[in-house]
Amino acid sequence: MTILVTGAAGFIGANFVLDWLAQSDETVVNLDKLTYAGNQESLASLNGDARHIFVQGDIGDSALLASLLAQHQPRAVINFAAESHVDRSIHSPEDFIQTNIVGTFRLLEAVRAYWGALDAEAKTAFRFLHVSTDEVYGSLAKNEPAFTEEHRYEPNSPYSASKAASDHLVRAYHHTYGLPVLTTNCSNNYGPYHFPEKLIPLMIVNAQAGKPLPVYGDGQQIRDWLYVKDHCSAIRRVLEAGNVGEVYNVGGWNEMPNLDIVHKVCSLLDELKPRLDGKPYKEQISYVTDRPGHDRRYAIDARKIEQQLGWKPAETFESGIRKTVQWYLDNPDWVANVQSGSYREWVAKQYSAG
Ligand code: NAD
Repeated sequence: MTILVTGAAGFIGANFVLDWLAQSDETVVNLDKLTYAGNQESLASLNGDARHIFVQGDIGDSALLASLLAQHQPRAVINFAAESHVDRSIHSPEDFIQTNIVGTFRLLEAVRAYWGALDAEAKTAFRFLHVSTDEVYGSLAKNEPAFTEEHRYEPNSPYSASKAASDHLVRAYHHTYGLPVLTTNCSNNYGPYHFPEKLIPLMIVNAQAGKPLPVYGDGQQIRDWLYVKDHCSAIRRVLEAGNVGEVYNVGGWNEMPNLDIVHKVCSLLDELKPRLDGKPYKEQISYVTDRPGHDRRYAIDARKIEQQLGWKPAETFESGIRKTVQWYLDNPDWVANVQSGSYREWVAKQYSAG
């Protein structure tokens, strides 16, 4: 059997493929455009493994999609491919519209045609799983209950608006055409192979390089955090047992202000790799101008996936963040290679001290 996974040279997709092939003999066809966020090095341990077929291409390329589906006959398609960085969506939203909305639409169209031509048994067994974010639900006040699957959509950034649009298209393809879809809306992930433009890897990498640790505004923006391998296990579980047409929120029951996250990373680094001058890493914290329209709080109510599908995160934040910091300390070559010239220019543009 085969599954087609899109965007799996990125952070979560790469972790998913590594996890999947560690516990299944099914072939994985990995379609990824290799944008700045795609990194084949994250999958280097699969070199020579015939179960992983990498194809460089765009989810918006209808002809490529049709031929891949016809050739590999997957039993499931899992869509990770997206432009995923909120800051980039504020500066250049166009790519987000193209990939997250138009790309998802083209993928759905190609899958609909493929699925429609399957025999009855394969048609019933087929699944299209769309990986999405809690950011589609908007921002919560401090005392509001966490997002359930019934929460209204109130996206606030071009990124979350484009993901919200893609979620609606996926929903519509089920209601209109009967396509057997599943959607997962997950909170902030962290873990190995995370591109160092996102909060946790940026802090680890900058701390090591003796650079400022940029914290937006007052650092009191609250997010729920989930170790990436727990997100991967949730996706596997939903794919295996989720009810077609339904949405599952995925979270770690772990709300924390960004500033606390930065302090946690600093104290772990103090313990695992102290600064040569013996001073604490938190001295490198530098407050920068807040992101425009920055959502104050996201929180996920993950009771549905736990009660209906029996999924729970395996890691606590304490155990997951320790593994993550250790992974970055153990993999300096991966970090050095992703920090290309274009990455450095982007970081310089972003985090002007203020
Ligand atoms: P990422 O930016 O690390 O990876 C995205 C991957 O998609 C990259 O490999 C990139 O090359 C590829 N890609 C981009 N445009 C493409 C296109 N047009 N065609 C084919 N491939 C393309 O993102 P991530 O953090 O791994 O997120 C994966 C998915 O999970 C996204 O849909 C994101 O919205 C969602 N998500 C992320 C988080 C998080 O905390 N990172 C949380 C919840 C949901």
